[in-house]
Order: sequence, then structure tokens, then C-alpha cells
Amino acid sequence: MPILNRIAEFQNDMTTWRRHLHEMPELGMECYETAKFVAARLRDFGVDEIHEGIASSGLVAIINGQGDGPTIGLRADMDALPMQEETGLPYASKIDGRMHACGHDGHTTMLLGAARYLAETRNFAGRVALIFQPAEENGGGAQVMVNEGILDTYDIGSVYALHNAPGTPVGHFYTTPGPIMAAVDTFSITVTGVGGHGAYPQDTIDPIIAAASMIQAVQTIVSRNHRTFDDLVVSVTQIHSGSADNIIPATAWINGTVRTFDKDVQAMVRKRLPEIIQGQAASFGVTVEIDYEIGYPATINSPDEAGFAANVAVEIAGEANVEPDGGREMGAEDFAYMLEHRPGAYLFVGNGDTAGVHHPAYDFDDKTATSGASFFARLVERAQPIAS
Ligand SMILES: [Zn+2]
Ligand SMILES: [Zn+2]
Repeated sequence: MPILNRIAEFQNDMTTWRRHLHEMPELGMECYETAKFVAARLRDFGVDEIHEGIASSGLVAIINGQGDGPTIGLRADMDALPMQEETGLPYASKIDGRMHACGHDGHTTMLLGAARYLAETRNFAGRVALIFQPAEENGGGAQVMVNEGILDTYDIGSVYALHNAPGTPVGHFYTTPGPIMAAVDTFSITVTGVGGHGAYPQDTIDPIIAAASMIQAVQTIVSRNHRTFDDLVVSVTQIHSGSADNIIPATAWINGTVRTFDKDVQAMVRKRLPEIIQGQAASFGVTVEIDYEIGYPATINSPDEAGFAANVAVEIAGEANVEPDGGREMGAEDFAYMLEHRPGAYLFVGNGDTAGVHHPAYDFDDKTATSGASFFARLVERAQPIAS
């Protein structure tokens, strides 16, 4: 698999870092030990500036190149997931109920690998800002870092990020010019009726039958209210109610997710969902409390930067292993907040044949880190070449 030679030379170090991080997953905004580890490595590499404590446990490090030029931002996420690891690997999580099941330990390692190379070679103009963020999975760490002003403070002109892709061969890359990851909204509905004996439904107002009907009815947003050509997902993912076979409960709770790319489609769902639920509630005689939360926006690559990044990936991986127009996904990504403010691109890098992300058997392939690091390093050299 083609990678930069110098990065190949410290591949073993990267594997050691990655496996160490894998053993100590941290959650949300509280990636303090991970950040400490990252800062220590960056200090060893001799980067020029390290700014810690951004968005609680995030950090930005600067490497100066040769001569004047813009600042390119490279972002890695550091957080893990609240789930039990079931890989049985010798370096499996040492913390019960926490797992790096999305490969963010690998993303952190890729950026560390690129940092080591870039600090050593400095074969670029301007500066590189290495952005290590907490809380990608939940909590919008990227948004907090943007709100705390990193893009202006460090004069970051463009931003790039990578995510590993299980099911895509190691050493492959794909991206797309334009929308690549969806916006994610969340809804929850509390249905309140009148509880009673399961044998006497006529004396109750059953919230379960109302909830069942509501779940069916909201699917018509996709099938009947929506123009076929724009992507839209409405999924009900939780329903909780009841305690015994002979009790009709007083309440039921429904929860779900909405994925969109287009703001008009998002606005339509946001209007239509409460209308349908209220209509259903009236027909069953229950009352409802609806909570609709707007989450991460769609991740939208700027076409020029996505094309440029794809060309760099071709240089690293070869034409046959890069899909510059690989389509969009309905997952969400908080790097979206950075791309709302700066041009840039989000790319996927193949992670081979493993269980999917967020699965207890998910495994990050350490070779993915070297291909990611090689991409980041070459991206900087090509984006900001030294004036000849
Ligand atoms: Zn994830
Ligand atoms: Zn992830």
C-alpha cells in the first residue's frame, strides 16, 4: 500500500500510540488524558505552539513551514463511545462500558503521524494548525471549538478531516464535491392517556395504540410529503411504555432521528411531524408533548477543495483506489460546523473488512493510520508549496 517512506519508518510507533489510546477511551468533552498524551507527543516532535484547554479538552497545535503562506487546518476527533468492547484484542479497552468503536483513536494517531512528519520536514509554506477535538459523537466539540474562536485566532484558511470506512479496502479513499454527510435532528414524543386494567380498555385511553399509530403515520412524511429526489430518513428508534401484561399504562414515549441534506426538507419535516402527531393525538383522545431538536448540520464539502484533496489522495493511493465522487451518506459529523465557516473537505479512508463503526466487534486497522497520515502530510505540501 503506497504511503510516504518517512511515515512508513515510524509506522510501529504509530501502532503503539494507537493501541495505547485504544486502551483508554474517553467520552464527550472529557478527553483530558487523551489530550495530555497528544500534547506530549507533539512536544517530542518539536511543534511550534500547543494551545490546550480549548472546548474543555481540545487542543490546537501549530507547525510553522518555510516562508509566508496561509494556515491549513487538519482535524482529528479524540472521543470514544459508551459501549462494551467485544473484540477480545490484547489492547482492548481497559475501561468497562467504554470503547473506541468509531476509530477516533486511529484518527488521532493519523494526525500525530502527519504532525511528526511535518515538524521534521517542514516542506511547506505558511503554517499547519493541528486540531484535536473532543465530543464528535455527542456534544458537538467542533462547534464549541469554532465558537471559542479557533478559526480566527489561528487564522485557519481551510479545513480537512478524515474518517475511516469499514468495508472499504485499506489504502482506498473516497469523498464527494458537495454534501457528504447528513444533518441530524432528534425528536421525542411523550403520549399521555389514561391508564387502567388491561381487561377493561373501555375505561382507559390507551397511549400504546396511539403511539403505534403515530409511528406508522410519521413514515408518510417520507412516502407522501416528500419529493423523491432529495434524501430523507425518518426513523423511530425507541418506544418505551408499560410494566405488566394486565395494565394499560398512562404514558408512552417515542424517540427517533431525522436525516436531511436540504434545509427546506428539514423545515418541512419539522412542520409536518408535529402536525401529524397532533392529529393522531386528537383522534385517539391522548395528549402529546413533542420535543424536536435541531442537531449537527449537513457536512458540505466545498467542490474545489474536495477535488484538490481527491487529487492528493490519488498521489498517495493511485487512481484506481480513489473515488472523487463517492456519493453522500446519511450519517452525521460535527466537522460540518468547521465547513460552515471555511472551505475544505471531509474524506473517508478505507479500514478494510471489519465490523462497522459503533459495533462492539469493530476494529481499527493500524495500516489505515499510515495511509491517513501520508494523505494529511502530502495534502499540506501540495496545498502550500514552498515558493521556488
Ligand atoms: Zn461514531
Ligand atoms: Zn466517528
